[in-house]
Amino acid sequence: MIHSVLIIDDSQQERNEIKDVLEKTGLFDAFYEASDGLKGFKIMLSNPPDLIVCDLIMPDFDGFKFLRLKRARQDYDNIPVLIVTGRDDMNDKIRGLEEGAQDYVLKPFNPLELVARVKAHLRIKLLQDELKQVNEKLETLSNTDPLTELFNRRYFFNILEKEFERTKRYNRALSLLMVDIDFFKTVNDKCGHLTGDKVLTVVARVLKTDLRKIDSCARYGGEEFVILLPETDINGATSVGNRYLTEIREQDLSDICTKIKAITVSVGVVCLPNDDIKTTDVFLKYADDALYTAKKQGRNKMVIYHKD
Ligand code: GH3
Ligand code: MG
Ligand code: MG
Repeated sequence: MIHSVLIIDDSQQERNEIKDVLEKTGLFDAFYEASDGLKGFKIMLSNPPDLIVCDLIMPDFDGFKFLRLKRARQDYDNIPVLIVTGRDDMNDKIRGLEEGAQDYVLKPFNPLELVARVKAHLRIKLLQDELKQVNEKLETLSNTDPLTELFNRRYFFNILEKEFERTKRYNRALSLLMVDIDFFKTVNDKCGHLTGDKVLTVVARVLKTDLRKIDSCARYGGEEFVILLPETDINGATSVGNRYLTEIREQDLSDICTKIKAITVSVGVVCLPNDDIKTTDVFLKYADDALYTAKKQGRNKMVIYHKD
């Protein structure tokens, strides 16, 4: 694993000394150097290091200014800053720590002390990075349906509430498609539940293929899916729905089960703007009504909700 350190100091000699000491630890594979706080800040943005060693007193752009800039960028909060300062001035040390530095070492520094402090802060940084990654993974898991890897129902409701509010407020378009596999019970009965699961993943893959980044596709129930298309009117929604009907009907299922030739879906569609739809519950209900009509009319078709 590559760890990197950024050394900010106006003196080339000081930078070399710090670099020499840190190189010997074998902790870092990449060293960045800057001669003032602003240059250091730019390097931090383009190549976020695992640790920053920063001088306090530098001409033009000093360490305090650097710390203040860094503090304004919360996404770089996790990078520890170790101040190395020539001034044995209590006020500077306190100010540096208050401006967001994690620790300080006085110049001329004791190499062993510098290394010990660097190690301690690097350890915390790496643990925090790990924690962040685990949290991100957990968040993804908690939003995802494990079988199909689509969003789950709970997360879909979050997205729906936000998109619905935004759409209403700015009087934009928003389309909702509800897709239900036809006679899915028969698939389970004929080929078994495991095959049923495979069919669900095939359908899910078709549903999410070719969607735009802002679109959302979720597993709404057992064999029922919802697709939310922001900034999409009835024409856009119809073409997505038609694509679903065709592509799912044409899926080759011979690898999965020889007893079923093909599967079809029914689709219910509802679109905003529509003054009758004031809540997400009604929005969902109308999509469900349209889907129910598609089922009643013989399945393998799309029905778009309108007033009557
Ligand atoms: P329709 O055309 O009216 O939609 O008929 P259908 O058979 O698809 O609908 P029904 O609601 O009668 O049956 C849905 C079936 O989906 C029943 C249930 O066992 C099955 N199912 C729900 N969740 C899963 C799942 O995770 N895996 C599998 N294999 N089957 C599931
Ligand atoms: Mg069904
Ligand atoms: Mg169903």
